[in-house]
Amino acid sequence: MIAEAPIRLYGFHGGLHLDDRKSLATGQPIGEVPLPDALILPLSQHIGGAAKPRVKVGDVVRRGQTVADPQGVVSSPVHAPTSGRIVAIEPRRVPHPSGLKADCVVLEPDGLDQWLDAPEWTPLPDFTAASGEQIRVIARAAGIVGLGGAAFPSAIKLNPGRVVDTLIINGAECEPYISCDQMLMTEQADEIVLGIRVVLHALGAPRCLIGVEDNKPAAIRALSRACEKDAHIHVVVVPTRYPQGGEKQLIQTLAGLEVPSEGLPLDLGIVCHNPGTVRAVGRAVCLGEPLIERIITVTGEAVAQPRNFRVRLGTPMRHLVEQAGGLKGTPGRLLMGGPMMGFALPNLDVPVIKATNCVLALAPETIRATPEAQPCIRCGECVTVCPSRLLPQQLYWHARAREFEAAENLNLFDCIECGCCAIVCPSHIPLVQYYRFAKTEIHAAEAEKREADAARLRHEARLARIEREERAKEEARARKKAALAAAKSGAPTPPPDAAPAKPAAAPATAPTGDDDPVAIAMARAQARRSANNAVPAPASVETEPTAAETNPPTPADDDPVARAIAAAKARKAAKEAAAPTPSEAPQAPAEDDPVAKAIAAAKARKAAKAAATEIPPDAPATESDAEDPVAKAIAAAKARKAARDTAADNRE
Ligand code: SF4
Ligand code: SF4
Repeated sequence: MIAEAPIRLYGFHGGLHLDDRKSLATGQPIGEVPLPDALILPLSQHIGGAAKPRVKVGDVVRRGQTVADPQGVVSSPVHAPTSGRIVAIEPRRVPHPSGLKADCVVLEPDGLDQWLDAPEWTPLPDFTAASGEQIRVIARAAGIVGLGGAAFPSAIKLNPGRVVDTLIINGAECEPYISCDQMLMTEQADEIVLGIRVVLHALGAPRCLIGVEDNKPAAIRALSRACEKDAHIHVVVVPTRYPQGGEKQLIQTLAGLEVPSEGLPLDLGIVCHNPGTVRAVGRAVCLGEPLIERIITVTGEAVAQPRNFRVRLGTPMRHLVEQAGGLKGTPGRLLMGGPMMGFALPNLDVPVIKATNCVLALAPETIRATPEAQPCIRCGECVTVCPSRLLPQQLYWHARAREFEAAENLNLFDCIECGCCAIVCPSHIPLVQYYRFAKTEIHAAEAEKREADAARLRHEARLARIEREERAKEEARARKKAALAAAKSGAPTPPPDAAPAKPAAAPATAPTGDDDPVAIAMARAQARRSANNAVPAPASVETEPTAAETNPPTPADDDPVARAIAAAKARKAAKEAAAPTPSEAPQAPAEDDPVAKAIAAAKARKAAKAAATEIPPDAPATESDAEDPVAKAIAAAKARKAARDTAADNRE
């Protein structure tokens, strides 16, 4: 006789009573599935970051060995379900609503099914002596994720960082057809209760409530027997009502508390786990076994012999369905999960993953023909059944009109996509599809906004960097200008960080600034540059008359071409004047010889320098001197030389 539940039930709003069809697959005990030819192990079988392969093609691995490591906190490792050889690491089609491919490790079993010589962590059969942290570390290393279908890494839910008052085990399993938890609770209740004890110890929680729907009497009996010595673990029988298995709905039924919008059960001091998940934690901690298999329901009217199986992860679904006698013709729908919240599979050539609880093949005749959607008649039926207390018809209008903000304000994200509203809608409006569309659009817009914000920040940072660089260049230019002016005036060079000084006119007699090597070097460099560029010599320098001087301006001077030719001739004449005479050159430079050319240029520079130094110290500055920086430099050099000579005379 089933013991009376000592816990008061509260129930939840809305919901539906559906034909459960669970008896299809519960007539036989859990079956075993032989190893397939190849196991396909997706690197992402959970919510969060994909794992990173630890093995390479050709490696030989043992059962229980880690083949991929977690990346980040919300991630989970992948283990070899049997011994064998890695034959590929490549994208394969995986069970996902998108139907896209994802990276997988492909393992070819060797048939020996050999375990590792020792587990990758030390098992703790006496878990009561272990700390909560030790248990969490093992749960993470064992790759345990929520086996109810959400596949959230369990170690995070074992490390809540807050006081936990109640652990709730979600054994409601409310979706029609699915019976894997029911069979597990019936056949392995002792292992589930062991796992509950381990999790309670890790959380430091004082009590556990196991919620089981009243359509699973065998499971209720088995669990009640298994935990009869644990006064703080209670089996609570709840009414069969879809979606009782929703986390928020079960909490409301058992604790009478409503999880706040956008909140977590932890906000109420509650943590929820699936029976299969706590069993896996118990085996990992006490036996050192990673998560390499799970129970899966293979059912539906299109399956020859529906049944529950213990399946190695990575087993192709086709191999699994063959163990159930294969398909009876072409199914009308092929789903992973139940008929309410499952998603369509492209075919059976995808592997079983940690989140697979059911492979459902529905016969064509069992599928309701979907009549064409009609306009909403505002009957309010959808509001009556919504377990999240939403306004489904208003959400539909806003989603349809793309008024996403209004939909969000109506708590769109509290919708658990249970489908109750769509089932009762007399207008056959595919309401859930509108909600999924709105959620996807909102997520996409948020992602776009995040990217735009990041791009704007990058742009602003770039502008700031360019401004910084420009400022630095400006300051460097000002410092250089000040140093040049100081060199001309003979004043001490200002320090690099000094404010730029205004260029001062060269004094007639320069002080001892001539000793400054920087100023001397700069003046020398400028004189060299002027000679090199063949700038016409200042008027005060005694040179041969330029072409412009020998050829007075003619009317043709108004012609820009004629002016350019005249200027070129003038430059050539100046260059020739600065160049050494053939007698000074040991040999004429060959026109094509770059070495000879360089020697000639150096000589020209030297001659120009010599010509500059021959200027009489008292030569008056001409108008062109005042304007031409070269002439200015020469004048400054002359002034400095005169000052030096004067000083030498005085000393003598
Ligand atoms: S059940 Fe359908 S028809 Fe009725 S109010 Fe809701 S959306 Fe409109
Ligand atoms: S699908 Fe969403 S809106 Fe519809 S009944 Fe379920 S929770 Fe409510």
